[in-house]
Amino acid sequence: MNSGCENAIEYIYQYLDEEISFLKKTRIRMHLRHCSQCMSAYQFEAKLKGVIHDRGAADPPPELFDTLRALIQEEREKDESGI
Ligand SMILES: [Zn+2]
Repeated sequence: MNSGCENAIEYIYQYLDEEISFLKKTRIRMHLRHCSQCMSAYQFEAKLKGVIHDRGAADPPPELFDTLRALIQEEREKDESGI
């Protein structure tokens, strides 16, 4: 299990219910990208809720890219510290 799984699984439910901040959503996405365990949990829940179907219309806000850059940097530093 990767570090961060507990948080990710906990947040997946809130994510699907749109109850969390944009930053947390982005963190979860980052986690899902490299954790197949959480990804399948997410996909399962998403399918149940039909969330995937409702998405895709909105353009990403410009601050998305700054946030992503910061998160990628954070992930990189984590990797370098040997996790
Ligand atoms: Zn995980």
